[in-house]
Amino acid sequence: MSRIEALRQRLGEIKDIQTAVGLLHWDQEVCMPPRGADTRGRQLATLSAIAHRKFTSEVFGHALDELVAERDALSEDDRALVDVTRYDYARATCLPEEFVSEFALVRSEAYETWTRARTASDYAAFKPVLARVLDCLRRKADYLGYEDTPYDALLESHERGLTTRRVREMFSELATRQSALVERLQAAPAPPDASWVDGAWEESAQWEFTLRLLRDIGFDFDAGRQDRSVHPFTIDFATGDVRVTTRFSPDEPFSAFMGSLHEGGHALYGQGFDPADERTPLAEGISLGIHESQSRMWENMVGRSRAFWNHYTPLLAKTFPENMEGVTPEQVYRTLNRVQPSLIRVEADECTYNLHIVIRFEIEVALVEGTLSLDDLPGAWNAKVRDYLGIEVPDDARGCLQDIHWAHGSMGYFPTYALGNVYAAQLFERVLQDLPGLWDQVGRGEFTPLREWLRDHVHRVGRRKLPEELLQDVTGSGPTVEPYLNYLETKFGEVYGLTPAP
Ligand code: ZN
Repeated sequence: MSRIEALRQRLGEIKDIQTAVGLLHWDQEVCMPPRGADTRGRQLATLSAIAHRKFTSEVFGHALDELVAERDALSEDDRALVDVTRYDYARATCLPEEFVSEFALVRSEAYETWTRARTASDYAAFKPVLARVLDCLRRKADYLGYEDTPYDALLESHERGLTTRRVREMFSELATRQSALVERLQAAPAPPDASWVDGAWEESAQWEFTLRLLRDIGFDFDAGRQDRSVHPFTIDFATGDVRVTTRFSPDEPFSAFMGSLHEGGHALYGQGFDPADERTPLAEGISLGIHESQSRMWENMVGRSRAFWNHYTPLLAKTFPENMEGVTPEQVYRTLNRVQPSLIRVEADECTYNLHIVIRFEIEVALVEGTLSLDDLPGAWNAKVRDYLGIEVPDDARGCLQDIHWAHGSMGYFPTYALGNVYAAQLFERVLQDLPGLWDQVGRGEFTPLREWLRDHVHRVGRRKLPEELLQDVTGSGPTVEPYLNYLETKFGEVYGLTPAP
């Protein structure tokens, strides 16, 4: 067996174990009975440790070094595989095993404490363990190494190649223009009216409608499934097995519809990798930001467009005749594009969403760099919400305790949500140039051209490029906020009557 074949075999075995871990996680969220939690935790820990040990072993490291030495003689695909593996190996072996287990313990304690602290809105109860999380994150950054700020090392884990400095520049532009836009919209004379949504929306009909949406955008049900879970997510085991979950609200159907479109966008990515990359790290998303660009393009740019609801409103009226009596496509479109500053990130509209992210980013950087103390965290949070969103935070449960990420030991993760919006707009601008008939197609419920475009330009690439390279190659520019801000200002200016309709 050649060295490269041996590498592929080894990576395949590791991927098999990781896939089994993923399936156990999926089962935990979707069907496991509550008393299964204890043994499930042990099963996950055992299998993860086996995969980690296999990946970080010295023998494997030597084999990789030998492949790196003969890199120039390899085919392009093999070279890409060696490069990605080499990068992952270097990151994985930076962290001493004692540190990894210590951090895992701190995180599980943080999660337990956070659940209780959030329910009681008791930041003081969470603060001591958050201090330990922060200490671990700083040490992690030291192990991983960085040039400018320790936050760079944390960001790199989620968005390879992007620096804190660059994110800061982009976010300050987003914050300035999005805040100004929200302020203008708040003062508009005729905001969209959503009172027609009031009432009961039957869950089984909602479920059928989400399946229809997924099928229409091209989700392959022979290579995936949808289930229910408390927190919607997507997980892919192979291009032939990608699973999404959704949840339902009895008094409005759009959170389920938009949720399924969002997860569907992630899932099309997972079903769209090159089958030849199967069982290797090349069949993975480039970064969280690029992954999120796929979900947000389908959810927001397509799923909250006028053309989309011109097509689906009649079907919605057939499915929910009582709720939809006399409701026009235009009303649905305007309802889905209401803007209202609010306290909770996951419920935020498209226009205010990034402001929630900017707040978290600025606080994370200040915490990691040590310029903000944990004593001052709630005050800093509330002040930023006042500045950017113009609202008062009544308690920490609806303030700095609302998200799970810090309790999970994740910092540097939040920015990828806003980057997903930014990347989606950049890519979509290019889509509209390449597919001039796109809105007519969407208006007929015809999504194949868009899906195929994404497959060719994004999905098939796998991890062969960095986020910045992909954007550069496809759009002619690295990450830039201009397309997203133009998109928001045009769309919402029109919805709120600040600029004339097209
Ligand atoms: Zn997502």
